[in-house]
Amino acid sequence: MTDTHDGVEPVRDVAIVGSGVAGLSAAIYVARADLEPLVLEGPEPGGQLTLTTEVENYLGFPEGVGGMELIRRGKEQAERFGAEFVHGTVEAADLDGRPFELELANGDTLYTRALIVATGASARWVGAENEDELMGYGVSTCATCDGAFHRGDDVLVIGGGDSAMEEALFLAKFADSVTVVHRRDELRASEIMAGRAREHEQIYFRWNAELLEIHGSREDGVTGATLVSHPDGRPTEKLGTDAGEDVARERVDVGGIFYGVGHVPNTDFLRETPVDLDDDGHLPTETGMTTRTNVPGVFGAGDVMDPRYRQAVTAAGTGSMAALDAEAWLDAEAERAGGDRADGERADGDRGNDERADGEAPEALAD
Ligand code: NAP
Repeated sequence: MTDTHDGVEPVRDVAIVGSGVAGLSAAIYVARADLEPLVLEGPEPGGQLTLTTEVENYLGFPEGVGGMELIRRGKEQAERFGAEFVHGTVEAADLDGRPFELELANGDTLYTRALIVATGASARWVGAENEDELMGYGVSTCATCDGAFHRGDDVLVIGGGDSAMEEALFLAKFADSVTVVHRRDELRASEIMAGRAREHEQIYFRWNAELLEIHGSREDGVTGATLVSHPDGRPTEKLGTDAGEDVARERVDVGGIFYGVGHVPNTDFLRETPVDLDDDGHLPTETGMTTRTNVPGVFGAGDVMDPRYRQAVTAAGTGSMAALDAEAWLDAEAERAGGDRADGERADGDRGNDERADGEAPEALAD
């Protein structure tokens, strides 16, 4: 925190919205550059990794590492270099003027020169009848959170990607049977995850099938589901069309339903701002190796800007990129204003970035 807005409110050099692996990685780099980042931990502190059991593909952990553990260590590392963490959900942002203004759900307003958006993505819902009513009452988007409630149950997992496989494998520890319901006849999951699920004797597959309706009540929890299937897949799309005649319906008795159908980026707070969003709500960054958005001073990191790779390690990578981009941008802004960083208190010394220890913003990064 280096100066004030209107002589009253402190203005940060860098605010990072989101405390998942991308936000933490950005925080470590920004803090090591002596820019004292403020990290806003939103409604899902630590992000998606905190809902994962074992992370086996993160560099440096040959035996795997718990998702919670990785996040806990990352936060500790960022705090060690001076990052400040506060709980707060950004509801709206004014990114037209300078400094940027962030409005939090609790009514607080924050000001920052540079903004790193690392808000990640939240679990997608299927759209089945009754899911609103029964979410949290037998319908769940998190097997690691709720799996233990389903000891001895027959459960469904919806989806065909790695998340669905991971959920199915975890649930098989508790449930009598786990049936993966996938809308096509081919899994999207990686070979290794799909192979583990296929080989598991308690895990079954329903191909070309979708969840149409969930049965049960908040008192009794989930008691069953209506599935629809079609030999060509994606049966719900066919309902109401000529192909709808071949859609078969079946009621199954199950005690729990877990969604593993992907995620939607958390960018609602940017909808009224000049930041461009794509059709899915992702934050497109400029092509090439950069995390800059169309608004100078706003950077994207992690799943919120990455519809393609979405790995913990790539999120950490883009987090560090966003930090370096933000630092270079602040330097370039200060230079343009005719001095060191806007407040004149340039952070020299250990910049956490040996390649650009002179503080020069690479030309390609300067706006
Ligand atoms: P994903 O790869 O996008 O898969 C989503 C799955 O849900 C797809 O099979 C999709 O069907 C299905 N689906 C989407 N909307 C649906 C709907 N409305 N109704 C029914 N089915 C629907 O998402 P993800 O599994 O969450 O994985 C995201 C990324 O994280 C991937 O890169 C993945 O490798 C990674 N990940 C890795 C691990 C691990 O390595 N341990 C664990 C979890 C995730 P279609 O296939 O027909 O599109």
